[in-house]
Amino acid sequence: MNSTPKDDAFYEAFRRELFAFADEQCPPEVRAVVASGGKLGREQYSAWQKKVYARGWGAPSWPVEHGGTGWDVKQRLIFEEVMAQSHCPPIYHHGVGHIGPVIMKFGTPAQQQRFLPKILDGSEWWCQGYSEPGSGSDLASLRTSAVRDGEHYVINGQKMWTSHAHEADIMYTLVRTAKESRKQDGISLILIPLDTPGITIRPIRTIDGWHHVNEVFLTDVRVHQSYLVGEEGRAWRYAKYLLERERLPPASVARLTLLWQRAKLLIDAQADKDAHTRDLSSLSHRLLLIEGALLGAREMLSSATEALMQQQPLGMKPSALKLQCSELAQQLVELAIDAVGPEVATRFIHLDGTEDDDALWAHNYLYFRSRTIAGGTTEVQRNVVAREIFGE
Ligand SMILES: Cc1cc2nc3c(=O)[nH]c(=O)nc-3n(C[C@H](O)[C@H](O)[C@H](O)COP(=O)(O)OP(=O)(O)OC[C@H]3O[C@@H](n4cnc5c(N)ncnc54)[C@H](O)[C@@H]3O)c2cc1C
Repeated sequence: MNSTPKDDAFYEAFRRELFAFADEQCPPEVRAVVASGGKLGREQYSAWQKKVYARGWGAPSWPVEHGGTGWDVKQRLIFEEVMAQSHCPPIYHHGVGHIGPVIMKFGTPAQQQRFLPKILDGSEWWCQGYSEPGSGSDLASLRTSAVRDGEHYVINGQKMWTSHAHEADIMYTLVRTAKESRKQDGISLILIPLDTPGITIRPIRTIDGWHHVNEVFLTDVRVHQSYLVGEEGRAWRYAKYLLERERLPPASVARLTLLWQRAKLLIDAQADKDAHTRDLSSLSHRLLLIEGALLGAREMLSSATEALMQQQPLGMKPSALKLQCSELAQQLVELAIDAVGPEVATRFIHLDGTEDDDALWAHNYLYFRSRTIAGGTTEVQRNVVAREIFGE
């Protein structure tokens, strides 16, 4: 832990150190893709994770004893701001953000030794096997079964919308190990290596034309009991602990702020071009409203991150933030498309992975439709917020 007093000069020096690191370590070609909103694959994310890990920053929110940084909340948020402003990739969420903290809290020491180092250095890649056909918002209705056979579980069922399964090594998976009267009971969390026989991964092409999500079919998949996390049948609690973290990505507001700046540049340029034919003041007004909402989201993120790092209950904070950020992301891309005009926008849609800046606005417009669905829908987040305010 750094013993320097944390005054303004300390945070300024910290910020400069981060900018220098990003400049030196993040290849320009990767930064160009991030800057334009393009798609990165496992190779680029892994290479970047190795670099932040080598610098000791592989998991900024983890406790120091597991390889965390010991930063305070302000440093934590400055890290995200600088990395976003420098167009570095975000830290890949499934390992460091989601399953890592669950293994730390509920896993055995042997599981911590086996899995955490490879999450930290980016050498093992994870995906999330929660949703199933018919079990998304109503996650507790899931039917994929795991039956004990000696020292193994035999798993059968289907997972749906599994992001990056085609690039991952291990899927953290919710399965049903018993039928109880309360559907939340009898669910277990099992870590399934994706090279185990009996697994088929089939791509789903989404409206934006890219390959993010998959169906995962599990047929008589045998996994050793040492891959069960926590107690059998008690995983609902672990699943919710993980979801809270999924809905609270620390990078979200910094990346949205950058998107806001890109939208502003676009609208300013368009206003110059269309000065005599169109009045773009209503777009500027919308931009201003989004800017205000972003400031609110920043405050909310700061308070939630503080609670997370102090191990305090998070309550509805992750849901409120997820709700706000996913809607703002959609508003921003809609604004950009309105600025260039729908007839121009349709010409941008090549859907072939092009990195042309204008085309990527159109691409993001389509891709961001999923922001209010993935990680729990907007309606479901509203329910969570309403329950905390008004009670059950
Ligand atoms: C791009 C993308 C990536 C994803 N990645 C993953 C992943 O990696 N792993 C994973 O496990 N899952 C993933 N998902 C799945 C995601 O979590 C689910 O799609 C989501 O939870 C919604 O579930 P559903 O699709 O079954 O829709 P449903 O739950 O059937 O919802 C349909 C509609 O009904 C509404 N609704 C449902 N219940 C209520 C309610 N109680 N009150 C009010 N309205 C309600 C919903 O808001 C929605 O509008 C991903 C989804 C997308 C789009």
